[in-house]
Amino acid sequence: MLKMSNNLAENLFIITAPSGAGKTTLIKNVIEFAKTKDKKVFMSVSHTTRTPRSSELDGTDYFFINKEQFMFNINDQVYLEHAIVHGNLYGTPKQPIEQNLENGFKVLLEIDWQGAMEILKTYPEAQSIFISPPSIKELHKRLHDRGLDSEEVIVERIDGAKLEMEKSSEFKYQIINDSLETALKNLLNIIFREKHG
Ligand code: 5GP
Repeated sequence: MLKMSNNLAENLFIITAPSGAGKTTLIKNVIEFAKTKDKKVFMSVSHTTRTPRSSELDGTDYFFINKEQFMFNINDQVYLEHAIVHGNLYGTPKQPIEQNLENGFKVLLEIDWQGAMEILKTYPEAQSIFISPPSIKELHKRLHDRGLDSEEVIVERIDGAKLEMEKSSEFKYQIINDSLETALKNLLNIIFREKHG
């Protein structure tokens, strides 16, 4: 259990979206914005047992660890939450989150809906944000166009997305990523609680 006070949890932003909804680009833009405006934002880096993709860096995108280490960490209460997503283990390390909140940072978590629900049970004050693609048809197009997955995996991801989107009403904020510009403005308004156009 995290030691942090309820007030601090208000600066914890849980961002969930089906793959292909555009959350990675949105989050990258939030980090850029924070840098240029000198705002204190920390992006949590999860642990996973998934194999790294060719573009991914250990310690930046994820900490890539094996199942044995992951199980050891679960036992050691390293994680604020952990879940199996698409057959791999993912976990949110607790200590960096706690430390960054205490140091006055806004902390962003990019995790799936199961993890989001888990954290909200412990910290109902945390801010939960669900990002949806404009439609399933558009999601299919985006997953296809980015060329990372086979058609079989795309179908699997779309089925997963449909299920995830049913959970969106459980989130405090919903953003539809139709236009990147509008979605980004909405996200910045939520995180920094000021109007950004
Ligand atoms: P990917 O493997 O495509 O990067 O991520 C697959 C899914 O796992 C995404 O929905 C992502 O948000 C989720 N995910 C990433 N890290 C965590 C985590 O620490 N906990 C949970 N519950 N989900 C995570």
